[in-house]
Amino acid sequence: MAWFRRVLVLTLAMPFVTSLTSVAAAAPRTIEGTVITAAGRWTADGSRIVTDATVRTATGDVVVSQLGGTADGLTMRSFPGPEPLLAGMQVAVAAHDDTDLSLGKHVVVDHLRVLAMPEGFVRTGPTKAGNSLFWESGCVFFVVDSDGTKELPGDTEFALVDQAVETWNTAGAACSYITLKKGAVASKEVGKDYTNVIKFRDASWCRPATKDDPARCYSDAAAGITTAVYVDDGGSSRDGAIVDADVEINGADFAISNQGVTLGTQPCKSDLLNTLTHELGHLHGLEHPCRAAGDPARVNDSGQPVPTCSQTTDPKIVDATMYNFQDCGETKKATLEPDDIAFLCKTYPKAEDPGTCAAVEPSQPGCCSASTEPLPALALAGMTGILLGCRRRRRAAR
Ligand SMILES: [Zn+2]
Repeated sequence: MAWFRRVLVLTLAMPFVTSLTSVAAAAPRTIEGTVITAAGRWTADGSRIVTDATVRTATGDVVVSQLGGTADGLTMRSFPGPEPLLAGMQVAVAAHDDTDLSLGKHVVVDHLRVLAMPEGFVRTGPTKAGNSLFWESGCVFFVVDSDGTKELPGDTEFALVDQAVETWNTAGAACSYITLKKGAVASKEVGKDYTNVIKFRDASWCRPATKDDPARCYSDAAAGITTAVYVDDGGSSRDGAIVDADVEINGADFAISNQGVTLGTQPCKSDLLNTLTHELGHLHGLEHPCRAAGDPARVNDSGQPVPTCSQTTDPKIVDATMYNFQDCGETKKATLEPDDIAFLCKTYPKAEDPGTCAAVEPSQPGCCSASTEPLPALALAGMTGILLGCRRRRRAAR
């Protein structure tokens, strides 16, 4: 690399050397912005991996090409070499335009300055063996309970569910294979039945009693809750695989609202898009970015310790979609942030698409990436929803 740099210096010093005109014409330029996608691929001859990264700048998106990256489970990297481009990274890239032997055009990365690393996201888990939770199929199917909620006019809630799902599917479309798929609206109770449910609870913020178990009620400070059942067996290659996840929305202690509109009577509004976009993060396998009182120590995807919520004022955490708390009527969690997209890109990258799109059915061979094994031990985990700020219970010890 140093040799090429010297050539370039020579070129600039001797602009009249005609044999180097094409190199001299490829004037370097600086591209500054946030990397929104970065995907490695093999060149046609299989000799090298290059990473194509889309950088979102103030004036539009630019696709740059960097030598090295990850493809098909192999990483190629030069030492020393630039930091590999990652989705969510803020960068200033020095690059030049060049063509390949087939005259295809590329914006080639020369140097890279990292202005900010991607926000660290936190995954749910770990299992007893230390693995994070994940879906095995390329698609996560769910149904919306047909009762919906009476706190929104008409069938507004079903359209809002579609909107929140679309937010996640669109955000990951460029880099991730995972897709949420809505099935028919049906009358469904939550529970481990391999059907993922979104259920509104207008009357009682409890999982109802069964023949041999009483009602199980949740904290009335939680606007939503996601409960996952997952493989928790370190001896299984499926350790961490989610087999069922249900989302419940609290309309008993909150007035479920849409842009401030609600038919509910509780004084504190819980904006459905705000709450549901957050809960769908849990459904995908995302954990909160900071630890509430009583939460165990955790690390983010970069191995950095997750701070306690009481000790952070970092806007990247407190304004995050996956932040643990919301205020009455808040809507800022209805959009996704770079760390959420980085989670999709890294946890479910297109390069590792399992090529399946099926609901979880453990008795059905082929449904899951490693489903020939019998279903191992399962664990039930509640990913507590959101503590509300307006009810004098803000950050109440739990
Ligand atoms: Zn939550």
